[in-house]
Amino acid sequence: MHLGHSYKQKPPTGAFDAIVIGSGIGGLVSAAVLSRYGKKRVLVLERHYRIGGYTHTFTRPGYEWDVGVHYIGQVGERGALRALFDKLSDGRIRWAPLPDVYDRIELGDRAYDFVSGAGRFIEKLAESFPAEREAITKYVDLVKTTTRKGSMFFMARGLPSIVSAVTSPFMARGFSELASRTTREVLLELTKNEELIAVLTGQYGDYGLPPSRSSFAMHAALVSHYLGGGFYPIGGASVIAEGIAPLIEENGGHLAISAEVESIIIEHGVAVGVKLADGSEQRAPLLISNAGVALTFGKLVPEANRPASWTKALQSVPPSSSYLCLYLGFKATDEELGLTGTNLWLYPDEKHDENVARFEADPEAPFPMVYLSFPSAKDPDFQRRHPGRATVDVITMARWEWFSKWQGTRWHKRGDDYEAFKQRFTDRLLEVVFKRLPQLRGRVDVAELSTPLTTEHFASHPRGELYGLDHTPERYDLPLRAKTPIPGLMLTGADLATCGVAGGALGGLITASAVVGPGPVMGLLKRT
Ligand SMILES: Cc1cc2nc3c(=O)[nH]c(=O)nc-3n(C[C@H](O)[C@H](O)[C@H](O)COP(=O)(O)OP(=O)(O)OC[C@H]3O[C@@H](n4cnc5c(N)ncnc54)[C@H](O)[C@@H]3O)c2cc1C
Repeated sequence: MHLGHSYKQKPPTGAFDAIVIGSGIGGLVSAAVLSRYGKKRVLVLERHYRIGGYTHTFTRPGYEWDVGVHYIGQVGERGALRALFDKLSDGRIRWAPLPDVYDRIELGDRAYDFVSGAGRFIEKLAESFPAEREAITKYVDLVKTTTRKGSMFFMARGLPSIVSAVTSPFMARGFSELASRTTREVLLELTKNEELIAVLTGQYGDYGLPPSRSSFAMHAALVSHYLGGGFYPIGGASVIAEGIAPLIEENGGHLAISAEVESIIIEHGVAVGVKLADGSEQRAPLLISNAGVALTFGKLVPEANRPASWTKALQSVPPSSSYLCLYLGFKATDEELGLTGTNLWLYPDEKHDENVARFEADPEAPFPMVYLSFPSAKDPDFQRRHPGRATVDVITMARWEWFSKWQGTRWHKRGDDYEAFKQRFTDRLLEVVFKRLPQLRGRVDVAELSTPLTTEHFASHPRGELYGLDHTPERYDLPLRAKTPIPGLMLTGADLATCGVAGGALGGLITASAVVGPGPVMGLLKRT
């Protein structure tokens, strides 16, 4: 198991061609592609004590939970991302399919199943909405074409700006118009059936915004990503980083953990290195930040060097919502507990926008959405590692502001009032779980709630964000590119493309293509 080397105990030595700040999927993919094709020595500096960013897992005696990976699309035998993961990990990352029903959307007591395969997806929904068959078919077509155009839009972010200025309008024709509209606006042109709209947007938690606030481009990308079904990494989410890390090291790279970058060193307007929290410096001709746009330009780049155009543009897009996750452990197998790998999306009713607004205004209001994921049931290897155990993740949205008064306090020492506030959420979430899965009542062995402060502490997202920059229509107008206006400094990860492991990996590919050219990147996506 490769989880990186302690920066203090095994400091990196020698000269590096590039430094990557952060080891999320975006940082790892860009580092791995540069290593493989540019033959570059890449130093990855990770603040956490494990590599992987949101793909990391954590353990408690007898248990292990993923944090930011519940299912990934397009990695089945014929999936568009399968070749990429196979090649970067030399086949070390293996995937298990989720059940045919990968997502079940429940609006109150009404349940709707998303089944794998675009045609079957349409048929299944049309059983519930026979009068809407045509609308559903048009919707799936639109989702697919929007996503196809979107990939051109994003890849242009890796082209030299002069080339992209000329080619982008043609490459992504029609995409920007759809990206600039909300999901609800676009769906209302296809159907007026509110129940159907609520079902079609029943995965909104995967990008963190209800239909009236999200860009249709994000919605389309997400839906399209899972149309072929969901998959889970066999062995747990950490196998993703463990699978990719060797390629970086084989080429002379180094993965350092507990290595917090405090600032980016800029000399004569050029980014030349980083200063770490322990006061040491590392220098390289190329710096790539996977730490997120807000953190990179709000903290790591010294104020005097922040490009005014970017600072202003970034103000138009807020950080995404934060979240609470209740990690549950059971001393019983999934079979004994009657749990399967199908994700459950529990909503009070079909009014997603109103429910989110009500909860944002009052944390005591009913949860607008509760997502139940069953990692142990999804992972065929779980029983080998943790015999006789089962795990469940229970997620809902949360506002950073509810927790910010405890910012600066230490993990596990935040005070009784914080614990009481958390306990109230824990109890309420447990009641939702027990109502839906009554067989779990009385069987919980471990229940641990993460809050936005946990996310700030472990994942370094400054406001505990689920997904970096919010996926509003305005996000698609940002002048984001792999190359920043500061020579020597590039961006990577989900903020460069979209959220999700696939989005973060796409960000990694965009950055890599800006360095080694689009040819090798295209080659990685090809099945050979
Ligand atoms: C609860 C939750 C559930 C999710 N579920 C899914 C899912 O089921 N499927 C899916 O595809 N996606 C899911 N996602 C989204 C997905 O995990 C992320 O969008 C994606 O992994 C982000 O990758 P990234 O490389 O952009 O950034 P990150 O994974 O956030 O990595 C950034 C890294 O940079 C490091 N860093 C930051 N600052 C510094 C610094 N100063 N010095 C050194 N290192 C630093 C951080 O510690 C972190 O490791 C989920 C996310 C969350 C939060």
